[in-house]
Amino acid sequence: MVDKRDYYETLGVARSATQDEVKRAYRRLAREHHPDVNQQSPDAESRFKEINEAYQVLSDPEKREIYDRYGHRGLDQTYPGGFVDFGDFTDLFDIFFGGDPRASTRRRSSAERGNDLRHDVELTLEEAAQGVERRIRFDRMEVCQTCGGTGAQAGSHPEACNLCHGTGQVRQQQQSFFGTQIRITTCPRCHGEGRVIGSPCDQCRGQGRVHKTVTKTIDVPAGVDTGMRIRLPGEGDAGLRGGPSGDLYVVTHVRKHEFFERRGRDLWCQQTIGFPLAALGGTIEVRTIDGAEELQVAPGTQSGETYSLRGKGMPEPGGRARGDLNVILRVETPTKLTVEQKELLRKFAESRGDEIKESQKKSFFERVKDAFEGL
Ligand SMILES: [Zn+2]
Ligand SMILES: [Zn+2]
Repeated sequence: MVDKRDYYETLGVARSATQDEVKRAYRRLAREHHPDVNQQSPDAESRFKEINEAYQVLSDPEKREIYDRYGHRGLDQTYPGGFVDFGDFTDLFDIFFGGDPRASTRRRSSAERGNDLRHDVELTLEEAAQGVERRIRFDRMEVCQTCGGTGAQAGSHPEACNLCHGTGQVRQQQQSFFGTQIRITTCPRCHGEGRVIGSPCDQCRGQGRVHKTVTKTIDVPAGVDTGMRIRLPGEGDAGLRGGPSGDLYVVTHVRKHEFFERRGRDLWCQQTIGFPLAALGGTIEVRTIDGAEELQVAPGTQSGETYSLRGKGMPEPGGRARGDLNVILRVETPTKLTVEQKELLRKFAESRGDEIKESQKKSFFERVKDAFEGL
């Protein structure tokens, strides 16, 4: 007899490996070396048999103990008729069909969850700041009331599929080198449901669901921003064959505001003030997202200076914190001055020692205007 490879070595596991580790190693190797997958490799078949044999011994506590104590010879003596059973494909089914073959004879539940739906809503910045109730209208699939979702006409019932005898699966036998292999596939007639509808419901044409337009009132919480999703569990499409409903996602879009600019939780705006106020300081009224507020302008404020109003920005959805309102002050230079105002400004400049040389050069249009006025 040829020297056999050590079983632990074959599976690449330690002698102390647990049953789980042995099983995992075997699954990985069997998938890798299965002859159906490795048709190019000539020794795939012998390698696969070797892996299988090692697994059959190491996964069986009794055989493993004999092997641990007495090695290959111990097994040969204990099981003179052979200890490797290629007829037991339990684990092969596990590997290639993802389940226990004994369990797969039971009908797979064909219930299916309904689809998630999306609905978009547009809000003003004020609505986003305060939160708002919104009525929305959208289409979804609902359980057919006529047949109660069975898809069968009143008085009739879904019948057991005669192709798979209600199991939802059909078996196909294949011959392979290690014996008869049974392949289980989804029944093509009933698509795995195990039942067929003889006379379908008129209302839903056997689908069990119908289109419906629904109106819902939703609460949009304060602080939402563009692209946020509000989840309404179970408000999506109804499930199939008793499956749960999907969810509805309301996606928010906040319109651009003509006065405020939003940056995360903070709001920004610009406010114009006259230069005497900027110089002397004083109280002004500024617009906030929830009304007018007073703002103290310090004497000597420069154009472009920013004042922050704490907590006057946007709220955080679900939180208590609010951002700030940042007011950029623009100091306005007066344009239309009366003769008297001009005189006052000249005096003001003089008192500061500012020399003002007024431009004598007039534009073409000013000269034309003067000419006309002089007429
Ligand atoms: Zn129906
Ligand atoms: Zn069937």
